[in-house]
Amino acid sequence: MTAKIIDGKQVAADMRAEIKTEVAELKKNDIVPGLGVILVGADPASQSYVTAKEKACEEAGIFSDDNRLPADTSETDLLALVEKMNNDPKINGILVQLPLPKHIDESKVLLAISPSKDVDGFHPMNIGKMVAGEKAFLPCTPHGIIKLLQRSGVKLSGAEVVVVGRSNIVGKPVANMLIQKSDTGNATVTVCHTRTKNLAEHVKRAEIIIAAAGRPNTITADMVKDGAAVIDVGVNRIEDSTKKSGFRLVGDVDFDAVKEKASLITPVPGGVGPMTITMLLYNTVESAKIANGLV
Ligand code: NAP
Repeated sequence: MTAKIIDGKQVAADMRAEIKTEVAELKKNDIVPGLGVILVGADPASQSYVTAKEKACEEAGIFSDDNRLPADTSETDLLALVEKMNNDPKINGILVQLPLPKHIDESKVLLAISPSKDVDGFHPMNIGKMVAGEKAFLPCTPHGIIKLLQRSGVKLSGAEVVVVGRSNIVGKPVANMLIQKSDTGNATVTVCHTRTKNLAEHVKRAEIIIAAAGRPNTITADMVKDGAAVIDVGVNRIEDSTKKSGFRLVGDVDFDAVKEKASLITPVPGGVGPMTITMLLYNTVESAKIANGLV
């Protein structure tokens, strides 16, 4: 069997077109969803993430309030800006790009964001609601993974899923969403990590594999059941002298070998990555609808 490649760029483009249409409808009622963006410092990777998020907002018709602050911005000033955005009716979502400089307490800043504008889904209030199965802003990468699976026609209900990785931003939340008694869940989920005794034995059982270890070749073909759906979340740089940059990006899955056994597989890049920003737009529009009593 050769797997069908899940085109994350296409799924993201489809969803962004839907979001754009929804934003245009909202604008007819003078509702303009707004995202407040805060970047502290000049880390090149963070700058490019923030630029990509703002460009995606612009394309969807979402207003973005760009705040690029110097690296020596004090925690007090940053908290004051977050509070200003919490009280600004034009802002429906607040994005503080991580990591923050070492002198700023990251968790204090994330806690200061109003849960009703926490479109990254990192506030403990939203995490708690998600775990309890209540309506909440879901974190973008795990939510994007669920959407990719659903839009690729993968049945989640009753499926045997193995998640490799237990981080707070990917592994734990995606596992949680998948066990919920709802249409984003109803799966039977095993979560593996570095203390898991026999990773291969667990992964072999899976109808759906979600690899979020951050290590190339964590999932090899001998670990994959015929016909499994494989979502590769990992983004790893490996040296490649044929590239101008000197490196290329690979996932956590041995893509070339695994695609001969799986039924569906995401590439890296072009799989999960494009979904993360899409879900940020999605949450911002949801927040605008909630703020205006539309949902
Ligand atoms: P992380 O915080 O480093 O967590 C990695 C997890 O994988 C940990 O729970 C770790 O176990 C587990 N792990 C590592 N090596 C393992 C192995 N050999 N066997 C079993 N488990 C193993 O990473 P993260 O933030 O979740 O990110 C994971 C990957 O996804 C990274 O490559 C990251 O760049 C990528 N990512 C992509 C997107 C996107 O938009 N595409 C978004 C977020 C992250 P322990 O807990 O025991 O240490």
